[in-house]
Amino acid sequence: MNIEQFYPLFLQSNKVTIDSRKIEKNDIFFAFSGDNFNAATLAEKAINEGALAVIVEQQIFENNDKNIFYVQSTLTFLQELAIYHRKQINIPIIGLTGSNGKTTTKELIHVVLSKKFNVQYTLGNLNNHIGVPLTILSIKKEHEMAVIEMGANHQKEIEFLCTISQPDIGYITNFGKAHLEGFGGFEGVIKGKSELYDYLKQHHKTILVNENDAIQVEKIQDYSPVISFGKESSDYQFIPFTKEHFVGILYDNTNVLSKLTGEYNFTNLCAAVSLGLYFNIDFEKIKQAIEEYTPTNMRSQIVQKEDKILVLDTYNANPSSMAASLKNFITFNGSKTIIIGDMLELGEESMKEHQNILKMAQDLGFNEIITVGQHFKKVNLLKGAFENTGELIEYLKLNKIQSENILLKASRGVSLEKLIDFI
Ligand code: ATP
Ligand code: MG
Repeated sequence: MNIEQFYPLFLQSNKVTIDSRKIEKNDIFFAFSGDNFNAATLAEKAINEGALAVIVEQQIFENNDKNIFYVQSTLTFLQELAIYHRKQINIPIIGLTGSNGKTTTKELIHVVLSKKFNVQYTLGNLNNHIGVPLTILSIKKEHEMAVIEMGANHQKEIEFLCTISQPDIGYITNFGKAHLEGFGGFEGVIKGKSELYDYLKQHHKTILVNENDAIQVEKIQDYSPVISFGKESSDYQFIPFTKEHFVGILYDNTNVLSKLTGEYNFTNLCAAVSLGLYFNIDFEKIKQAIEEYTPTNMRSQIVQKEDKILVLDTYNANPSSMAASLKNFITFNGSKTIIIGDMLELGEESMKEHQNILKMAQDLGFNEIITVGQHFKKVNLLKGAFENTGELIEYLKLNKIQSENILLKASRGVSLEKLIDFI
């Protein structure tokens, strides 16, 4: 199937989906299934539900329904369609990557820019080789801008995602110790994430730079065009502050207080506000956007539960975000329990990194330290080491946590959020 021939049909469609549970009339459905029988069942379901087109691999039906399109690879076709569509779109696209803070920054940029523009953005965490094309394909005529999150856990992934999203402005949230295994250590992380800079430089596009980040400064050096924040000499200057555990920034003698906790969110805020200012959005409106935004996605979320304050950071964890989280939490008033779960995908460094975090937690002096998962169990020889979340739930049914403040932080796979009802 030729992309150019198919494209007019795409333009008529409602949306593109790969999820057979979410098919609506006039959708284009990509049947991602290795198994022919399964693909045929899904395709049939899509047709019955009024799909405009169904993309499948290989001949799976006897009959030739005009709505069914056969391709060599559904994945490649999806990506190529996205690239083709991207070339037809003439709006600024902001591309984000980094080890931590992509989704938070994306959400903040979205709320800020939405004060003036109709902005499309990555839904949830759809940031990979499937999610990025789907996001690009969700950009419609009425959109004036888009913010695209790009995730990676190995080399060349960001390079590839850039060929799909073709960002006009790019930002790397940070270089941290995440996915060390796939990237081949910290140097590998820097190289892999910097593929965004390589793309932007090659195409003379704009880089948003945090001048407080030495690696970013070194990578960008004399390049222009840039939009900068972080230093007194930067394009935009912000002074960070904290009020009752929420972070804020001072700009132009005005305080902007977010509902996010954790010092690392300063830079996330700065990035979003800088872009708002760059696109000439009234500062009052930017302030309003940031102050209205409430995270509900288990990233740096504060929840009051009866007499306790819970800090939920169960969406993901790696050594840098874990350390930042602990340093933030120690500043809370009153007694403090931390429930920290395994940091996954650390490869060879895993044991050492878990040891470091545990030592740091002990040195900071929390009232109680509870660990969850096998990695922590190997290094936590004191009490309070649980094999998994289920085991801790059983324990919590009989033993109530006494502290006034409780932090929950772990990699997604540990499912620490399941504890909330038992605290
Ligand atoms: P993923 O790789 O899962 O998509 P992400 O990069 O989108 O992650 P977020 O989901 O925004 O990151 O944030 C995850 C966690 O990372 C936060 O809850 C917080 O602990 C930490 N974090 C957020 N922003 C930063 C930052 N700028 N620097 C370091 N850590 C951060
Ligand atoms: Mg994310």
